[in-house]
Amino acid sequence: MIKSDKINKIYILLLLIILFLLVKIYFDLSASKIKLIDGIENLYILQAKQFSQKIDNEIKKDVHGNLYTTLKNNPQLRKKIENKFNVLISNSFKYIYVLYKNKNNQFKYLLDSSNPKDRGHFDEKLDVNTKKWSLVYKTKKDEVLYHKKLNTLWATYLKPVIINNKVQGVIAFDFSIRLINKIKNIVKPTHKKFLYIFYFIFVLMLFLMYQVILNAKIKKDSHIDPLTQAYNRSFFRIFLKRVNLAKYQILMIDIDFFKKINDTYGHDGGDKILKEISLIIKRIIRDKDVFIRFGGEEFLIFINKENASLLVAKDIGERIRKTIEEYKFEYNKNLIKITVSIGACLNPQKFKTPISAIKKADKLLYMAKNNGRNMLVCD
Ligand code: GH3
Ligand code: MG
Ligand code: MG
Repeated sequence: MIKSDKINKIYILLLLIILFLLVKIYFDLSASKIKLIDGIENLYILQAKQFSQKIDNEIKKDVHGNLYTTLKNNPQLRKKIENKFNVLISNSFKYIYVLYKNKNNQFKYLLDSSNPKDRGHFDEKLDVNTKKWSLVYKTKKDEVLYHKKLNTLWATYLKPVIINNKVQGVIAFDFSIRLINKIKNIVKPTHKKFLYIFYFIFVLMLFLMYQVILNAKIKKDSHIDPLTQAYNRSFFRIFLKRVNLAKYQILMIDIDFFKKINDTYGHDGGDKILKEISLIIKRIIRDKDVFIRFGGEEFLIFINKENASLLVAKDIGERIRKTIEEYKFEYNKNLIKITVSIGACLNPQKFKTPISAIKKADKLLYMAKNNGRNMLVCD
């Protein structure tokens, strides 16, 4: 029993280590996924920066005054610039265009290099995040807008077109979500597999823990006397091997004339009394004391001396004797008087072995019996 208990504990420990490693790998994987996506995003933003600079240069080659009026009056120039930058449209850059803000704070197309069938026309209105776009007008600096709700774009890069120290338009690059989704889809099945392994290990751990608890309970039960719930002889044998006599004083308790109880009320009556007496004793002793059913109606108690007076066993023994003497036992509506005799060995450390100290307690108990019973004799 003890062996299998240990094996179970080792299993649980191993599983915990595996679980810990898995959790670590899982989070490392998530972190590297985020880093990878961040890295790719930064790369695209950098590229958009470079390309938008080129567009900016191209516009400034031909436009020196007002951007809107120049482009309005020169459709040829618009077409030239739009077609030049259409080559940049790819799986990553879905739309490339230039907007301007009119007096009503509306954003409208100046140029659109996107594919011809998707293109916005000159002066056509586009609904955008006016606040963010206006910020570019205000700060004269580039901005990146992240789209959490759109399912085709993940971000837009914005760069102001500054002519004569005035923002006259904003170049925009829309980034397609396709690549980011591809990366996410590569990592997703791995995450799922991890999740299944977690579930599996979790169930395994629950099962093993149940086994450990069950084994511990069986082990405990095998050391407990079912009738009195005191420790039994099998526990007593183990206890004898490891007991430190200096820590305890010993009480040996025997019920007086118990044979008569059995003869009068039958074995069931006797059992009921035995049960009640051990309950009374358990209520009086403390958790650190060791209560053993030594024989049929004989109990052995190792009273822990720790932080107690030198006569602790005498006090506890006397309380047990008195409580039982005064207790009204009852069986089949018969009131039964019960007494016990007790031998108390107050200095067990004087003896070489626990058995000889117990024998001393037994001798003292014999004296109590001979001196009229219902008595505690200690030495
Ligand atoms: P005294 O100790 O005062 O000398 O007399 P006694 O009659 O108690 O002594 P004895 O040791 O002769 O009798 C003990 C009796 O306890 C005998 C046995 O039938 C009874 N007994 C032992 N174990 C059990 C038990 O588990 N249940 C019941 N009902 N009786 C038990
Ligand atoms: Mg007896
Ligand atoms: Mg006896």
